[in-house]
Amino acid sequence: MKDFDITVHVSVKDVNELTDEELRLVDAAKDATFRSYSPYSKFSVGAAVLLDNGVIVTGSNQENCAYPSGICAERTAVFYANSRYPDNRVSVICIAARDSSGGFTAVPITPCGSCRQVLIETEKRGGGNMGIMLYGTDAVYCIESARSLLPVSFDETFLE
Ligand SMILES: [Zn+2]
Repeated sequence: MKDFDITVHVSVKDVNELTDEELRLVDAAKDATFRSYSPYSKFSVGAAVLLDNGVIVTGSNQENCAYPSGICAERTAVFYANSRYPDNRVSVICIAARDSSGGFTAVPITPCGSCRQVLIETEKRGGGNMGIMLYGTDAVYCIESARSLLPVSFDETFLE
């Protein structure tokens, strides 16, 4: 038997340590939470993606009474960015969330498995690393690559 370990490097930053560009993305993600449609979970998620042309595209979670028909903020933002700007690479995605109290979560929000799968393919499609910023009021987690979020993942090579 052989074993291998997988480690993920996360830079934990205070909001005060972010660059102006990073702050702009955090603010866009936070702002997007106010456009969430989440009457069932009362959990409002916003995502903001920075494209290589400097444009920021946002998305929010869109729920449905048939629960699986809804979609997460991350995929809303990425799919919209990819459909509106198919030739531009997604450089960074930032995610923020407000819980049922209406306040932003203290602990950084993390993407679900389905979104991680989509983020990996979006990163590959762009041909370079896509940065991940996960916002919480106590800390911001910064991760250099979407691949880090879903190790040993399914990819297109299995389809060949
Ligand atoms: Zn998701």
